[in-house]
Amino acid sequence: MFEPDAEAMPAEQLAALQTQRLRVLIDRLLAAGGVQAGRLAEAGVTGGGEVSLEDLAKLPTTNKQDLWDTYPFGLLAVPREQVVAVHGSSGTGGRPTLVSYTKGDLALWSRMCARALAAAGAGPGTIIHNAYGYGLFTGGLGIHQGAIELGATVVPASGGMTARQVRLIADLRPEILTCTPSYAIRLGEALAAAGLTPETGLSLKAGIFGAEPWTPEMSGRIEVMLGLRALDIYGLSEVIGPGVASECIVAADGLHVNEDHFLVEVLDPATAEPLPDGSRGELTFTTLTKEALPLLRYRTGDISAVSRGTCPCGRTLLKMSKVTGRNDDMLVIRGVNVYPSEIERVLLSEPAVAPDYVLVIDERNGGRELIACCERLTGRTAASPSAGRSVPGAGADPGTEVGGPVCPQDELSQRLEHRLRETLGLRVRVAMVPPGSVPRTEVGKAVRVRRWSAGEPPVPGLAG
Ligand SMILES: [Zn+2]
Repeated sequence: MFEPDAEAMPAEQLAALQTQRLRVLIDRLLAAGGVQAGRLAEAGVTGGGEVSLEDLAKLPTTNKQDLWDTYPFGLLAVPREQVVAVHGSSGTGGRPTLVSYTKGDLALWSRMCARALAAAGAGPGTIIHNAYGYGLFTGGLGIHQGAIELGATVVPASGGMTARQVRLIADLRPEILTCTPSYAIRLGEALAAAGLTPETGLSLKAGIFGAEPWTPEMSGRIEVMLGLRALDIYGLSEVIGPGVASECIVAADGLHVNEDHFLVEVLDPATAEPLPDGSRGELTFTTLTKEALPLLRYRTGDISAVSRGTCPCGRTLLKMSKVTGRNDDMLVIRGVNVYPSEIERVLLSEPAVAPDYVLVIDERNGGRELIACCERLTGRTAASPSAGRSVPGAGADPGTEVGGPVCPQDELSQRLEHRLRETLGLRVRVAMVPPGSVPRTEVGKAVRVRRWSAGEPPVPGLAG
């Protein structure tokens, strides 16, 4: 453990610390004025001293809209000059969400990421290949600073330039890989194509993957491809970035939430009422110690459940389950609500299906049909030449196999269609497309859902 006193703190001591920090936070928010102070006043709160953890559910919430409404610096609780860095996400719809950090915030964030790396088995000197994107996105620099805080050796590979990443992994022999799950698959393909597999002595022992919803089935695929333990990390820029919660390599059955700094609640998405432990609902965080952008009860839109109890690793921090998806990722297909991750679980339960897939919402005839485009595994992995397919739509082999239906009704797709109907009550067309057709993600988050309203199919090889 990087901070055992905090990570293995007895429950009563933790509750006392959280209460004290919550009170200080409320006083700071009131002193800062602005949106959150106004809402606290409306709720009748005039000072932190009158608030306890039991009152949390009565306090006002915040959400992404508040950040947009006050863009870029409106929610600051410190003078603008004390902000030493900004990060953010491009967000859906192109409107950025910007968040600010003081020096103290960066130090806290580094410690949270150092905790995540230590929980994956890293320590001073461990070589960490960091393939999260560096930039406004919090993934790259968050892990980078955490690795330095831990005293590990970080390789700032960032996203993309996969051939160079393969070379670095072969030469530097890192033990830890950090990137999105979809890029881990991409790297696994490229490493296998270069003859580097677990059997030929790949050095990786653990991977810390996040920034996308991913299923245990995807995790299993990554573990086989890369011969490592695939661990989940959770965070969002509004709360601090990666490091809000992470899995330990000892149990690897849920993400320890750093609740000494991030108070977590699970709310009913519709009513905002708190849900009991074990029930799935919307993760909501209160940043207890952040300085520049402290947020009270920030509703993330991410769906998960929490459980308590001491972990075999010794941590007492509660665990959240893997995020199933976001409220706004939910697909509504002919009246059935479904998260893409639920479809992923069914698709990847079939060993013959490659881990890259795309869900196409076919709206061409005014309807809303769902097509799952999958590739069949070829050989050991879905390895196929990477050249020419990183630019989907840019004339990548349009004439070769496109045009005719590529085994649309073979046994495999029929089996999957049947299983999707049984499991999710959903009629999905499963289209097996030629290997390499599903666009791979080199940089940024994977786009697993595409719309098809007119014209050419969004996935080459998908027959109309
Ligand atoms: Zn643990």
